[in-house]
Amino acid sequence: MSNTIFQRIIDREIPATIEFESDDIIAIRDIAPSASTHVLIIPKKPIPTVNDLTEADAELVGRVYLVARDLAAKYGIDASGYRIVTNCNADAGQTVFHLHFHLLGGQQLGRMNSHAPSHSTGRGNVLLEAGLVVLLAIGLAIGFNAMNPKAIAWLKPEYKRVEASQEELDRILGVSNTAAPGADASQATQPSTGSSTTTADVTAATPMATSAPSAPTPATNNSATAPAAAAPAEPAFVAEPGVIREIKLDAFKKLLGRKQVYLIDARIPEKFAEGHVNGAVNVDGNTVEANIPQILTIPKDRIIVIYCDGGHCELSHRVADVLKNFGYGPILIYTGGWAEWTASGK
Ligand code: AMP
Repeated sequence: MSNTIFQRIIDREIPATIEFESDDIIAIRDIAPSASTHVLIIPKKPIPTVNDLTEADAELVGRVYLVARDLAAKYGIDASGYRIVTNCNADAGQTVFHLHFHLLGGQQLGRMNSHAPSHSTGRGNVLLEAGLVVLLAIGLAIGFNAMNPKAIAWLKPEYKRVEASQEELDRILGVSNTAAPGADASQATQPSTGSSTTTADVTAATPMATSAPSAPTPATNNSATAPAAAAPAEPAFVAEPGVIREIKLDAFKKLLGRKQVYLIDARIPEKFAEGHVNGAVNVDGNTVEANIPQILTIPKDRIIVIYCDGGHCELSHRVADVLKNFGYGPILIYTGGWAEWTASGK
């Protein structure tokens, strides 16, 4: 129990956005929100699941609900409505085994289920009810089909998709005189202060070294895939915390091999093991929340570049959202992904 992610947040070993704290309860912003408002209310006592509650915890759980009530009022969602959810064990999708309560709101959350008792006995009403049940089943099927298996089962996160403008790309790639905000023009031609990290440093910072044994050395200037001639001197690294942009193949190719780039493959480890872009580190988007301690070892002075399968794959966005919440940026998502990369002949 002592090393769950929530215990580490309580012990201030890793950061979190704390919304409330008392002697026995802490409330933090969820790192991968499933609704406009998504806060986790966590009793500090290390109770793994609801199954482990005892009579002695009754008051504590009661206080959790009072905290939820007060937070809902603070966020102005008390009148519009909200939901309090606790997942217990595998079927409910519990991923962190330190009891916590999701406070969700700020938007229409949809119905969870219908247990309305039947008052009808007539044949017509039976058909009507059967039809309603079918419709409800279809609705639920669509909802569950779209759901993210690791998130709250009836909500799917919406990712903002913003393509990098030419100006932003030029700035990041250092191919024009456009200086980044806050960077003076002379810096643009100087070697990066942030890039003083050597290849060895980057290797040491490889976040998935333990969870992804096949992870290769992250991008280096010697990468076989790096078009050395096309890569101009890197401009000074300019942090843009929380900025996520989508990029295309052309920009992706230009970024490969740059010292400032931290390349992430967000696909499942099995696919990563079958093949990946040279220099990529595997951070599985499906389990990104579980790997936060490793993720936090990624240096902040890096342009994060992420790809997954391409097409409708959302794993890159999932990883990007978590990194964004920890202040990384700029974060660039190569939307063509592995499919386009392999088709392009690399
Ligand atoms: P559950 O699936 O019910 O166990 O919920 C665990 C929740 O914790 C998920 O919604 C995650 O997004 C969230 N979570 C995991 N790690 C962190 C973290 N470091 N900071 C905030 N929320 C987190």
